[in-house]
Amino acid sequence: MRIGQGFDVHRFADDQRPLVLAGVTFAGERGLLGHSDADAVAHAVSDALLGAAGLGDIGGLFPDTDPKWKGANSMLLLREVVELVRDAGWSVANVDVNVICERPKIAPQRENMQANLSAAVGAPVSVKGRRAEGLGSIGRVEGIACMAVALLVP
Ligand code: MG
Repeated sequence: MRIGQGFDVHRFADDQRPLVLAGVTFAGERGLLGHSDADAVAHAVSDALLGAAGLGDIGGLFPDTDPKWKGANSMLLLREVVELVRDAGWSVANVDVNVICERPKIAPQRENMQANLSAAVGAPVSVKGRRAEGLGSIGRVEGIACMAVALLVP
């Protein structure tokens, strides 16, 4: 078995871009700044899988200096990562995710997020929302952070 962890953080954008987390669009919420669609959850899960398989990270695979990935759908990038992990001889056992933010509320979209992620990785995925209790940059509602752990089996 192999285990990997992923972490990502994105700051809120000033423009009108939509907030997308785990492929779910949160209507009426402030979007995140990023070269791709800034889906911090998809990014953290991708990095957890890549880390577990020893395949580097998404910054190396999909560099933000490459115009090809501008506005990219990160759930499709996650599916590409899963393919790479499978090609390396691994199968995803499960993934566990923490989304840390003051807003939006994660719970109402939790099932949808889990379903999207599960479909992408082909394994059970659990998603939990955590508040930062007003502490630090996340607590000041400057952005959203995400942590993920993935287990791979041969
Ligand atoms: Mg990211």
